[in-house]
Amino acid sequence: MRWPQTSVLINCRVIASRERSGPLVSDRAGTVTWRDLWTQAERACGGRPQGRWLCEVASGLDHQEFLDHLDSPAHHRMVVHFDSMLTRLSHGEPLQYVLGQWSFRRLDLMVDGRVLIPRPETEGLVDLALTLLNGRIAPIICADLGCGSGAIGLSLALELVQQRTIWMTDISADAVDVARANTAGIGRCAANVRLAVGSWFQALPDDLCGSLDMVCCNPPYIAVDDPQVESIVRDWEPNDALFAGPDGLDHVRTIIDSAARWLAPGGWLVMEFGTSQADSIVRLATHAGLEAIAVHADAAGHDRILVARRSTAV
Ligand code: GLN
Repeated sequence: MRWPQTSVLINCRVIASRERSGPLVSDRAGTVTWRDLWTQAERACGGRPQGRWLCEVASGLDHQEFLDHLDSPAHHRMVVHFDSMLTRLSHGEPLQYVLGQWSFRRLDLMVDGRVLIPRPETEGLVDLALTLLNGRIAPIICADLGCGSGAIGLSLALELVQQRTIWMTDISADAVDVARANTAGIGRCAANVRLAVGSWFQALPDDLCGSLDMVCCNPPYIAVDDPQVESIVRDWEPNDALFAGPDGLDHVRTIIDSAARWLAPGGWLVMEFGTSQADSIVRLATHAGLEAIAVHADAAGHDRILVARRSTAV
């Protein structure tokens, strides 16, 4: 299940709220078919694929099974689930939380209101991280600080070919619970994933200081009063995972300041930031003594990701 365009999210809220007064389909359980429910879900979600995802989650059927059962009547239990999902959408809740799952690269992550919804630009951050780690000698130690659902850290655990240990930390114990549940979903690749609750580097054991091959991070970086933040984001996603002081840089400063001390010589910091922050970020990284500083653009062409290295000199 992928990120719809923002307009779809907005549509989904507007259309769904128009349906709030409509009849619940559970009254028709046993007679209504999945084809009918798909049509209803499509209207509520503002898109045909999104409607299908909702039906698949409500029915517990996988993609092919769902298509095979389009003309079968839906069971009462499934229709009750379907109705409750439509009700949640009608209250403005993001589709991703209503579905309870969202895809990120090769992962199908459990998501709910305890964690940020993983975004496509963060998938690009993982691409950069994998490329930088490509030639690095194993065993590799990485930290995903502010892991939320575990999107970044678990992608590294799944996609890195070298032997590795991945630390995933978050100041929110609730978020770490979600990341732990998602860790269970990657099977044997989770063997060397470690989770810890705490603020940025403080969550890590002291003996890791100076030995991290990479720090990956998608920290909160939005200014508290940024008027561009959509209400569906501000109202539903965990605000501590989004906002960081008057200029959005409160946490970024802490992370960049400590990175050189925690990284191994030649280790990389890879960090996401906001669209208008590139100059400040480069200045902070330079001031912290990091080298090979570069910013990378997202798919829309906006500079969004910092890459910087601790000097190779010991
Ligand atoms: N690392 C997680 C993500 O990118 C959570 C980020 C956050 O909570 N700020 O989705």
